[in-house]
Amino acid sequence: LAEAEGARSWTYAELWRDVERLAGELAARGVRPGETVVFQLFNGPEFALTWLAALRLGAVATPINFRLSAGETAHVLDDSLPAAFIFDAELGAQAREALALASHAPDWTAVVGEDFDALLASDAPPPPLPDRDIYGETTRLYTSGTTGLPKGVSLNDAVEVMSAHDVIMHFPLAPDDRTLNMTPWFHRGGLYSGGPNPVFYVGASAVSLRAFDPARVLDLVAERGLTFLVGAPTNLAMLAEEQRRAPRDLASLRGIVTMGAPLEREACLLYQEVLTPRIFNGYGTTEAFWNTFLRPADLPAHAGSAGRACTDDDVAVEAAREDGPADPSDLVDRDGATIGEVIVRSVKSGYAYVNNPAEQAQRFRDGWLYTGDLATWDADEYVTIVGRKDDMIISGGENVHPAQVEEVLNEHPGIRDSAVVGLPDPRWGEL
Ligand code: AMP
Repeated sequence: LAEAEGARSWTYAELWRDVERLAGELAARGVRPGETVVFQLFNGPEFALTWLAALRLGAVATPINFRLSAGETAHVLDDSLPAAFIFDAELGAQAREALALASHAPDWTAVVGEDFDALLASDAPPPPLPDRDIYGETTRLYTSGTTGLPKGVSLNDAVEVMSAHDVIMHFPLAPDDRTLNMTPWFHRGGLYSGGPNPVFYVGASAVSLRAFDPARVLDLVAERGLTFLVGAPTNLAMLAEEQRRAPRDLASLRGIVTMGAPLEREACLLYQEVLTPRIFNGYGTTEAFWNTFLRPADLPAHAGSAGRACTDDDVAVEAAREDGPADPSDLVDRDGATIGEVIVRSVKSGYAYVNNPAEQAQRFRDGWLYTGDLATWDADEYVTIVGRKDDMIISGGENVHPAQVEEVLNEHPGIRDSAVVGLPDPRWGEL
């Protein structure tokens, strides 16, 4: 593990030593197995250490979006009832406001950039290894669902392992790889898509970058010998723009992997030409990780699609009916034209929403996850995502719920009512 901004780096032996210390200190401060540790951090070593230490202790690692408003963070604190809340000094004002708004008070807080290093200087003994089965909750990721407010998706050890295996199989990712995931690690696409989860599982190297900057990323490829870059289509658009402006040597790359929003055909072909011929596209959700994968061998013929089902997954396009119960055997024709809803059955899926049985029952049915994404599939089962059943906007790979934006707009004294819709945008996907 190495940070892009400075000289700090960790071998696996050093990482284990610091994780043991941090887990020992969390335990000494009263965090018990099964309790949650919420952390609101930028990509960086402290994120990785906190995530690993929570897993080591048997606590539930709960990384949250650093762009949440204070009210949304307060909602997460009240939903997850963490024993500890760790945040970055740069987010101090919002985090403190969230603590004031929340009904639940974590037992303690720590601030990266202020007192976090004291946790690492601990001489507390490492806690016993966690005593939970593979279905015990390990990581909780908050995602905005159709109802708008962030809801927690419970992941377990089986999901952690199968998600790592998936990336290792599909890139493939090996111990001599060196990845940089350009997206926020609190997302499924950050932590799991070539981020800390598979990298640490296979014994490869991760370079952390606190804030995305296309010029810096391109410089880092040669400086650090990066083999995989991972990001949303918006990241790739900005990389391509920068590479055309000032070409860098990208010969060390074995691939650039994108996910989080549709990768259009023209864009995909352009990135092959400007960045690397080895472009990958994974389609998925916070709930189930990615479930279809487009690989370089599929190009250029299938550019614009999201590829085919991942090795361990069942993916189908169901005849999305407004009325009547969903039926996973009622599929649309594989004609590349008829639109239906993507449903997936995956060993990488969490199958529970925290404190939200109604949405859980709605989205998870008979072992299938109903994604709400509309797609076509062709005779060879290449899936192309065409939109969403609900009105969610995807901008730069981030989900934006019109209802949440309208709520903020409507608070303005000069606005009586508002309606928010997404517009196509070449850089952000939607605006
Ligand atoms: P999230 O749970 O925040 O990761 O958002 C998941 C949503 O992002 C999916 O339901 C899709 O609408 C969209 N998405 C993710 N990956 C892709 C992709 N490769 N192509 C098209 N849409 C995607």
